[in-house]
Amino acid sequence: MTRPLKGQAAIVTGSTSGIGKAMAIALAEAGADLVINGLGDPDAIEAERAAIEADHGVRVHFHPADMTKPGEIAAMVADTVDLYGRLDILLNNAGVQHVSAVEDFPIEKWDQIIAINLSSAFHATRAAVPHMKAAGRGRIVNLASVHGLVASPFKSAYVASKHGVVGFTKSVALELAETGITCNAICPGFVKTPLVEGQIADQAKVNKMSEDEVVRDIILAAQPSKHFIEMDQINGMLLYLVSDAGAGVTGSALSVDGGWSAR
Ligand code: NAD
Repeated sequence: MTRPLKGQAAIVTGSTSGIGKAMAIALAEAGADLVINGLGDPDAIEAERAAIEADHGVRVHFHPADMTKPGEIAAMVADTVDLYGRLDILLNNAGVQHVSAVEDFPIEKWDQIIAINLSSAFHATRAAVPHMKAAGRGRIVNLASVHGLVASPFKSAYVASKHGVVGFTKSVALELAETGITCNAICPGFVKTPLVEGQIADQAKVNKMSEDEVVRDIILAAQPSKHFIEMDQINGMLLYLVSDAGAGVTGSALSVDGGWSAR
């Protein structure tokens, strides 16, 4: 198997679950040393860390930075460079959701969603760019969403944060266009992860429907393919963006959404 990322170092925020975990494994499979991050049970996180290391023959460290805390985010980037002597790939993936009518939207949930989904990408990018500029190469990939391109009701904070991520991606890409560093956003439709399982339960409550009805009539109603997006389909886009072949793509919001944003 070819290992095109051998010798490179990557940070994946929010990689103790779902898409982030799957992307971290894909980068390790391609040879990258990793810093994984996220919330969760310490024993489960250590088991994940050790398994990636053993399965893929790369170095994997866990960093507990809380994505609502700018100082911890900057420390995560600095610690990565101390550990590996480089930072090639920054994957801003950590994200949370809350579903509520705007007039009832809890103020602390709004602040939390903007902090984790949007501001953490700024803080990590701000800290990473000097190291990437010094190396003359880098790849920043932000996990936005189809909700970075189109909206749905009852998700005001999430949609605002993800549109913000797409705008941030474009601005950073322009700023860095001559440096060898690319910055892109991946915009998935629905992938069945714990985050979406939570939304199925929330939507069932808000709409007074069964969870099966929510999946059929709400979640996949908007996704023309009528299938959840698979992790491998996101990983394919990620591995392209971080490759040398991806050097010409920057400032793009790349849909992996079964046709949703084509409507
Ligand atoms: P998930 O809930 O399975 O995982 C979220 C990760 O973020 C976890 O590792 C969690 O610990 C981490 N996290 C949450 N708060 C944190 C904090 N304060 N500090 C550090 N880490 C924190 O969710 P997922 O579905 O895998 O989503 C990953 C990303 O993909 C998110 O940005 C999400 O918005 C985006 N996305 C998901 C879907 C989908 O259908 N699942 C679709 C489009 C975009």
